Amino acid sequence: MKIVSSAAAMQRLALKWRRTGTRVGLVPTMGYLHAGHLSLVQRARQSVGPKGVVVASIYVNPTQFGPREDLAKYPRDLPRDTRLCRAAGVDILFTPDDAEIYPGKAAGIYSTYVVEESLSQTMEGAARPTHFRGVTTVVAKLFNLVLPEVAVFGQKDFQQAAVLQRMTADLNFPIQLIIAPTLREPNGLAMSSRNQYLNAEERAQATILFHALEASKLAVKRQPISAVRLKSDLRAFLTVAPLARLDYVEFFDPATLLPVAKVKHGTHMALAVYFGKTRLIDNATL
Ligand code: AMP
Repeated sequence: MKIVSSAAAMQRLALKWRRTGTRVGLVPTMGYLHAGHLSLVQRARQSVGPKGVVVASIYVNPTQFGPREDLAKYPRDLPRDTRLCRAAGVDILFTPDDAEIYPGKAAGIYSTYVVEESLSQTMEGAARPTHFRGVTTVVAKLFNLVLPEVAVFGQKDFQQAAVLQRMTADLNFPIQLIIAPTLREPNGLAMSSRNQYLNAEERAQATILFHALEASKLAVKRQPISAVRLKSDLRAFLTVAPLARLDYVEFFDPATLLPVAKVKHGTHMALAVYFGKTRLIDNATL
C-alpha cells in the first residue's frame, strides 16, 4: 500500500492508470475507520477486480462541518487507519491536508463550491445548512483527483448517497456509484466513527435508533399509517431511552426524498437523535 498526501501526485497517478486502462475504485472516508468503512473497501475491490486499484481517502473535510459542530474533536487515528487499510487490501491511501484540497483557502483565494439544490434541502440539509455543499464539493474534487470508474458510499448516510448520485448524473461524472449496506454492531447500533463519543450508558441507549426503525417496519406491515400518527408514536417510543433527544424523524419516497403523508411498505425512514452533544443518524426502508 502506498500513502499519497499530495493532490498533484494523486492526480498524476490517476492519469497514469487511465492511460493504462486500469480500473479504479474510490472509497472516500473521514477516517477513524470501522468495519463499515472496510466493507466499502471490499465492495470496491469486488468491483475493480484483483488487477484494479482501490483508493481509500481519509480527509476530515472542514467545509461539511457547521461552525458549532465537532470538526476540532472529530476522532483521528491515522496510524491505526493505515494498518486497517493495508490489511483490507487498499492499494493507495490518499491522505491530503487542507492546503492540498482547498489551495489558497487560508489566504482567502479559494471560491469554488459544488451545490446540489434539491435533495439536499431536507433532513440533514435542514439540520446542517452548509453540510451537503461541503460534501458535494469535496467528493467532486476527489473524483477529479482520483478519476475512479466506481466510487463506493454507505447507505448509512442515505441522503448523502442520494445527493451524490444526483451530482454525479447532473455534472456528467463518468463514475458508477455503489451504495453499500449499513454495517451494525450485534445489538443493532449502526457503526459510526461518532459512536466513539458515547459513554457506556449513552451507547446502550443508542440502540433506540435501530429499534425505532424496526418498530416502524412492524407498524406498517399490516396497513399504511399516517406519518403524523407514526411520528407521534415514535416520540412516545423514544422516551424509553431518556438520554435520547430526537432531532428529526422523516418518512419519504426513497427516489425523491419527498415526505409522504401515508407511510407504507417501501417508504424510507430516517432519523437523527442527540445523546448529549453527539448526533447519531440511521435509516431504513420500511
Ligand atoms: P465517514 O467516514 O463517516 O464520512 O463515512 C465514509 C463512508 O462510509 C460513507 O460513504 C458512509 O456512508 C460509509 N459508512 C459509514 N458508516 C457505515 C456503516 N456502518 N456501514 C456501511 N458504511 C458506512
